Amino acid sequence: MANYYSDHPELEFHLSHPLMKRVVDLREKNYEDKDKYEDAPVDYEDAIENYKQILEITGDVCANVIAPNSEDVDLEGPHLENGRMIYASKTYENLDVTRKAGLWGISMPRRYGGLNLPNTTFSMLSELIAAADAGFQNVWSLQSCIDTLYEFGSEEQRQKYIPRICAGEGMSMDLTEPDAGSDLQRVMLKATYDKENDCWRLNGVKRFITNGDSDIHLVLARSEEGTHDGRGLSMFIYDKRDGGVDVRHIEHKLGIHGSPTCELTYKNAKAELCGSTRLGLIKYVMALMNGARLGIAAQSVGVEQEAYNEALAYAKERAQFGEKIINFPAVYDMLSRMKAKLDAGRSLLYQTARYVDIYKCLEDIARDRKLTPEERTELKKYTRLADAFTPLAKGMNSEYANQNAYDAISVHGGSGFIMEYKCQRLYRDARIFSIYEGTTQLQVVAAIRYITNGTYLSIIKEMLENAVAPELQSLKDRTTALVDKLEDAVNTVKESGNQCVQDFLARRLYEMTADIIMSLLILDDATRAPELFAKSANVYVRHAEAEVNGHYGFIKNFREEDIEFYKAQEKEAEEA
Ligand SMILES: Cc1cc2nc3c(=O)[nH]c(=O)nc-3n(C[C@H](O)[C@H](O)[C@H](O)COP(=O)(O)OP(=O)(O)OC[C@H]3O[C@@H](n4cnc5c(N)ncnc54)[C@H](O)[C@@H]3O)c2cc1C
Repeated sequence: MANYYSDHPELEFHLSHPLMKRVVDLREKNYEDKDKYEDAPVDYEDAIENYKQILEITGDVCANVIAPNSEDVDLEGPHLENGRMIYASKTYENLDVTRKAGLWGISMPRRYGGLNLPNTTFSMLSELIAAADAGFQNVWSLQSCIDTLYEFGSEEQRQKYIPRICAGEGMSMDLTEPDAGSDLQRVMLKATYDKENDCWRLNGVKRFITNGDSDIHLVLARSEEGTHDGRGLSMFIYDKRDGGVDVRHIEHKLGIHGSPTCELTYKNAKAELCGSTRLGLIKYVMALMNGARLGIAAQSVGVEQEAYNEALAYAKERAQFGEKIINFPAVYDMLSRMKAKLDAGRSLLYQTARYVDIYKCLEDIARDRKLTPEERTELKKYTRLADAFTPLAKGMNSEYANQNAYDAISVHGGSGFIMEYKCQRLYRDARIFSIYEGTTQLQVVAAIRYITNGTYLSIIKEMLENAVAPELQSLKDRTTALVDKLEDAVNTVKESGNQCVQDFLARRLYEMTADIIMSLLILDDATRAPELFAKSANVYVRHAEAEVNGHYGFIKNFREEDIEFYKAQEKEAEEA
């Protein structure tokens, strides 16, 4: 019987990565729950067994409920009734089955009713659910907003809200407004303190809010009158039970139809401040978005896998010119690149998730006791790695999901354009991944300082110290040659001293960096499990080589004055 987890042994490989031991030991705080809770693991092996079981159950639910429901959900979508959002009928069935399977409160400590799973496992669950239905994955995975409430809320707020999420209530993150998209400093939704009732009141409009009629909202609002930038913004918790927020409109979208995108009106809605005033955007929303970006990376990998599965199955069946199309070089070229991007992208996702796990767990431990000097050094190291890897994992995987969905349609020929085939839905669903939670352009903005200050280069040089299997050495040598080109390209761009030129070339440097990091990751994976990854390592490094050399040539040949060709085009377009 199909199972979205056990059908793909690559996932178990990432679960048994050497760094997982440290992740689990930290997460379980040396297994302090083992005598208090029946489901708490007694040691590392027990914890991993437990994760596998949950993944196995989820893989089954995905294959047998969520995926079979996905077409109906896509066709029906949600609708509006008297200011309330009603999901597609089968979304309720999906929600029910995830509640019965105990898939809520994934990351929360057991004392609040949670499962205390690390982010790496949460990302795997997200990947599986997204492969079955990317729209539903949004509805389910927004439960991770609770991490931000746990981190920055009071103990009273934790006790009030976390058990409700563990029982299956939904969440949303209400940030975007008509004039505040990529630039959230422009948020204007007003928060005023109501002295009489000792609470805050929210007034204004939010737009494009996924799952916007959820039970518990995290809301970014302007609490400091007269301010116009991020320093006047605070984060609030709105509880739907208190009322005051209506859904004005549900967007009609290209894809992810199962995921309701709502316009919300706040009319004197009662809210609680989460954390301190003025830190809403600077600290809390940054944490919220970093978590959500990893969620979109996992969603993207799920669709990369599903697109590859669909294309492979079709190519094995379809014959033309008396030959199965999978035997045509043009077709297996597409399929092998899809698989290589999937394997490399997934490796980047789980490496990032493990980094996030280590620093988040250490931060959590620091809430109870002082960290040792070694732990403080470890915290610093993994915070830096997680910060540097998150924009790469989100940006590259969201682009790969789109590329794989596009190629899946190409492999299907004309049938790919016909609504009966799943790949058209994957193509429509994937398009948003590189837009929400920060467009790819904004991931480049987040990554560029790590490119110019040498952070990535020093990470890459450390990665180069890892030995690879002898049969992969020549691929590693080829990757090492790319690192020299990246270093040269970074220096060339920095030396230009022209900010506009630097911004213009940033995307190319970002892709060169990501291509090299993913090459080194897949080489490492292929060294440990050649039966799973040797082919992809061979294909991916060749792909990276072509990309990096292309960008290198562009950057080295670029003259400052060339920027005018691009600006001129812009002006002509404006005039036309
Ligand atoms: C289906 C869907 C679901 C969503 N869910 C949520 C949600 O749950 N919660 C929420 O708060 N929001 C949500 N959003 C909003 C989403 O995060 C924003 O649409 C996104 O951040 C982009 O903002 P924008 O649409 O205003 O585009 P803009 O910011 O206007 O961007 C337009 C273009 O300009 C580029 N650009 C802008 N600034 C820069 C810059 N500094 N450098 C380079 N390029 C730049 C962008 O990359 C893009 O290409 C959702 C949106 C959609 C469509």
